[in-house]
Amino acid sequence: MVSAEKGEVMKFLTPRLHNILLGFILLLSAFLTIAKENLDKCPDQIYALKSSIWKTLEIPVCWEDQSQKFVKQRQWVQDAVKGTWEKNSSLHFVGWNGCQAGSKGLRIDVQDVGPHTEGLGTELDGLKNGMVLNFTFLKWSQSCSSELEYCVKDIAVHEFGHAIGFSHEQNRPDAPKRCKMDSQGSDGDLLVTPYDLKSVMNYCNPKWQGDGTLSPLDIKGLQSFYGKPDSTNTRFDGNWVGSLTYSDPGCVSDSVKLTVSGDAVIGTMTTPDGRTATAKSNLDNLGIFSNLTIKLSNDDSITLKGGLLGGRTISTDCGCGFYKFKKL
Ligand SMILES: [Zn+2]
Repeated sequence: MVSAEKGEVMKFLTPRLHNILLGFILLLSAFLTIAKENLDKCPDQIYALKSSIWKTLEIPVCWEDQSQKFVKQRQWVQDAVKGTWEKNSSLHFVGWNGCQAGSKGLRIDVQDVGPHTEGLGTELDGLKNGMVLNFTFLKWSQSCSSELEYCVKDIAVHEFGHAIGFSHEQNRPDAPKRCKMDSQGSDGDLLVTPYDLKSVMNYCNPKWQGDGTLSPLDIKGLQSFYGKPDSTNTRFDGNWVGSLTYSDPGCVSDSVKLTVSGDAVIGTMTTPDGRTATAKSNLDNLGIFSNLTIKLSNDDSITLKGGLLGGRTISTDCGCGFYKFKKL
């Protein structure tokens, strides 16, 4: 996951794509075992857990070089991250000292090469040289040596985007064709927001990596995983609504309301004919719940699996469907 060179684009693939595909296939087969009968009738949509999202909101950062070299550049990186990903979410990057042998979190090395990360999100947890930044630009992207602060900050924002689990926007299956040609690095497995030309994660952004400024959709995507600022442990708290479209034609859409408080989620379902029922389940810190079964009567129930960002449902009489929840 490299940064685009200023005025040029780097292209190469990493083998991590295979790991992500493998994980996706395992997830899919696990689901197939649970709901094989119903799945045959399901629309062709899948909700996949983005496994590289950090569960903690406090991510340690350290510098591989123990010396006090590049003090100014290090501060620019810290400032850039603070003014973007931290400012708009509940994330906090802490430490910023020299790495020890067993240091966890993000471990940053500095080299005069194309800045990059060795994976996405938690794949970097404790990984030596997991992120590489460039502070001189004497060899790579030399035009940056005359506008050092701008380049260091712009690239830091992009690479920290990878470090919190975001893939390149141009890699998305729904990116425009001319943009997909620049596809690079690991693919994501979950589309959170619509395709975003203005993303700091998009090589096709007319401004180089968005000039290091998060777009409104970058912020929306960020907050769906890491909450709004200063809402630690409450990122999913509140009321959510979703509506279900069943795969069986003729079945009407139901509405479901979820109330989340801490790790408890209460689901309320209302049918068009006015019947209501509630059910409880637990929510993990990624907003994922399993088997929230809402029963209206002995022969009418739906089971919600998935998360607040979307999920599958199975109904005893109407097959299965897909929910997308919206926070109220
Ligand atoms: Zn990148």
